[in-house]
Amino acid sequence: MARVVVIGAGVGGLAAAARLAAQGHRVTVHERAATHGGKLGEYRRDGFTFDTGPSLLTLPHVFTDLFAATGGPADLDLEPVDPACGYRFPDGTRLDLPFDAADVPAALDAALGAGSGAAWQAFHDRSARLWDLVGEPVLHRPLRTRDLARFSARLRDLRVVAPWWTLRRLGEHLLPDPRLRMWLDRYATYSGSDPRRTPSVLSVTPYVEQHFGAWWVRGGLRRLADALLDRCHELGVTVHLGSEVAGITTAAGRVCGVRLADGRAVPADVVVSDADARVLYEQLLPRSGVRVAATRSLARRSSASVAGFVLLLALEGEAGSGDGRPAHRVWFPADYDAEFDALFRRPAPVPDPTVYVHAPADAAMAPLGCESWFLLVNAPVHDPARGVDWDAPGLRERYADRVLEVLARRGEDVRGRIRWREVRTPADLERDAAAPGGAIYGSASHGPLAALLRPANRSPVPGLFLVGGSAHPGGGLPIVALSAKIVADLIGPA
Ligand SMILES: Cc1cc2nc3c(=O)[nH]c(=O)nc-3n(C[C@H](O)[C@H](O)[C@H](O)COP(=O)(O)OP(=O)(O)OC[C@H]3O[C@@H](n4cnc5c(N)ncnc54)[C@H](O)[C@@H]3O)c2cc1C
Repeated sequence: MARVVVIGAGVGGLAAAARLAAQGHRVTVHERAATHGGKLGEYRRDGFTFDTGPSLLTLPHVFTDLFAATGGPADLDLEPVDPACGYRFPDGTRLDLPFDAADVPAALDAALGAGSGAAWQAFHDRSARLWDLVGEPVLHRPLRTRDLARFSARLRDLRVVAPWWTLRRLGEHLLPDPRLRMWLDRYATYSGSDPRRTPSVLSVTPYVEQHFGAWWVRGGLRRLADALLDRCHELGVTVHLGSEVAGITTAAGRVCGVRLADGRAVPADVVVSDADARVLYEQLLPRSGVRVAATRSLARRSSASVAGFVLLLALEGEAGSGDGRPAHRVWFPADYDAEFDALFRRPAPVPDPTVYVHAPADAAMAPLGCESWFLLVNAPVHDPARGVDWDAPGLRERYADRVLEVLARRGEDVRGRIRWREVRTPADLERDAAAPGGAIYGSASHGPLAALLRPANRSPVPGLFLVGGSAHPGGGLPIVALSAKIVADLIGPA
């Protein structure tokens, strides 16, 4: 039995803690925030409840497997989201994508014109082959050079992975309708990236969402974090909240524990870090050649992923999702590239952003006759020295007004219904979740193999492992939970 310290009680940290405890290890979690869950946060006020981070769950079986492997099913109520999402295009087209993939071609033909369904189906079928190729080897275990070599060696595989193509280029090649290309471009932002630089392998993302479905957890996605915490407690994991790790301690070249911000030393045989990989390598690891090399390699690898500007809107009255209005809606701008330029090339709050709204069809989330809306636009990271200072006086409220005005211009004016609003900037996420710049996914996936080459789960320091969205295989709730499985498998049973 090893003494394991987990740094951070995000989904990755809690999932790793539960798995390692179930494998017989003695596990302690230290979380700097006053609550668990990390980016899977929640805000409650006056009978309104908001998920402040994730609003959609994909690959739900990853969590079913996690709970089954750690003691049995969790008490979670999962619901399919149907329609999966409503897209509103700048030319006024409305497309509601059904939950069931079999219904998608007809919905596309009806909304975008004959032939769109067939183009999407060909794209979807191609993505299915891609998923067969990369799903298992990339998401379920540490990436091995021999997997990459295999993709390159077999011409058929190489054509599907197409490392020479960006997501944008793939869309241009396969999707004749510009609105479908816009829809595909958006998936680059699911890994915090620019479609013009994201490798086309990330075209598996819409496939995964459509094939395995889009899901909601009754009462809010935050219930998932609660269930993970409960599972940790049941397995005897000790979770210390408000307990920041200030550094990792090593002896004879391997990990021997952590040092807390209050000065206490906690001995450990194994340390699993759910902190952002940059924080781990630049701040928590003792100064050494390993730290210098790891920091350099991270800096070389990529730019920061996008951050998010979030509005939580407590709304009077109900537009009613019973009328078929999708709970998840996206309004695209006329010039999508201007948004990516503002996010990645000339950082600025996006003047005319894509707006995403989640208005949960769940009575638990708002008082009777009201709605709780989560509104998200992509934003450049908080970087006062070289980019946007999201703490600049007046910016948060000014930009919130702007986003609501944009939404009104696109046909959804809720300004007269707002009882109160809560604004969350990238600077807030940086403070709340220790995410550098408020980047949602650590680093962006830019460059031919970037999506496959995130920081490894096994660090160069023996006994130190990385879990969570900034490490392999990447961000998003199920993917982070898979990183916990990879780490638990690497460490092995007690
Ligand atoms: C606005 C937004 C919307 C999103 N939407 C979706 C979505 O719809 N679907 C989806 O699947 N995913 C979504 N995501 C992504 C998803 O939330 C993340 O990928 C996932 O929650 C990350 O979990 P994690 O365990 O990697 O890290 P985190 O949640 O970042 O947890 C890391 C934890 O480590 C703690 N920590 C850091 N440093 C220290 C230290 N030194 N000492 C102690 N503790 C420390 C932090 O406080 C934090 O609690 C969204 C994220 C955001 C922000």
